[in-house]
Amino acid sequence: MTELSMTATELNFDDLASEYAQKSPQEIIKFALDKFDNIAISFSGAADVVLIDIASKITKNFQVFSIDTGRLHFETYQFLDKVREHYGIELEIIFPDTEQVEALVKEKGLFSFYKDGHKECCGIRKVRPLRRKLANLDAWITGQRKDQSPDTRANIPVIEIDKAFSTSNHQLVKFNPLANWTSAQLWHYIRFYNVPYNQLHAKGFVSIGCEPCTRPVLPNQQERAGRWWWENAIDKECGFHSNNNEQVIKSGNSSQ
Ligand code: SF4
Repeated sequence: MTELSMTATELNFDDLASEYAQKSPQEIIKFALDKFDNIAISFSGAADVVLIDIASKITKNFQVFSIDTGRLHFETYQFLDKVREHYGIELEIIFPDTEQVEALVKEKGLFSFYKDGHKECCGIRKVRPLRRKLANLDAWITGQRKDQSPDTRANIPVIEIDKAFSTSNHQLVKFNPLANWTSAQLWHYIRFYNVPYNQLHAKGFVSIGCEPCTRPVLPNQQERAGRWWWENAIDKECGFHSNNNEQVIKSGNSSQ
């Protein structure tokens, strides 16, 4: 632990939320990496590689992890390795529990999510492996932005207690340094600094998840419209950020 390293209970979140609400992603990431030793960047999409790029300009000592659901696009696997090599980082790949995946596939086949929704499959392939990883962290950094979805992400703060993954004896902090950035700002950064990106973006994909559950979007469609397109907009969270849905319901901004 460094002298500055903290735990969630030592931070005053009301003060921090207002102090950092309008700060730049660089300032927020620096603050996060300075305050927490046991912190990691969650990496999968275009935004997340911007987090890695910014962090790499601050320190060489940061953790990055990604969840491999077993259903990702070939281009996404190429992208993961490209980022690993480009930044010279150790990229920890987290896998789902074999027995749980086998039981689901045995009982329901490989495409049950088209019939009864994505939550069961996402629960097994994404959320449980993530929960396992987050149980060993004090804080994590995500690439969520408000403009990704007016249905589920409009109210995300730059710093929050992660209510979805905290427990009674383990409080987890979540940083969303890009919350106030637009898609245009993100892509300006990627082009300006020659940041690697997933080749699927050149094929019309915007928000990229698993191959069977992601499709390209049309001009002016919401960024996450290509995810689980057969379900309601409010359901378009995989469980990584399920407390977003609570915020939506509390604010009455529900499409249901
Ligand atoms: S996005 Fe689709 S394939 Fe991937 S874990 Fe969720 S339901 Fe399963």
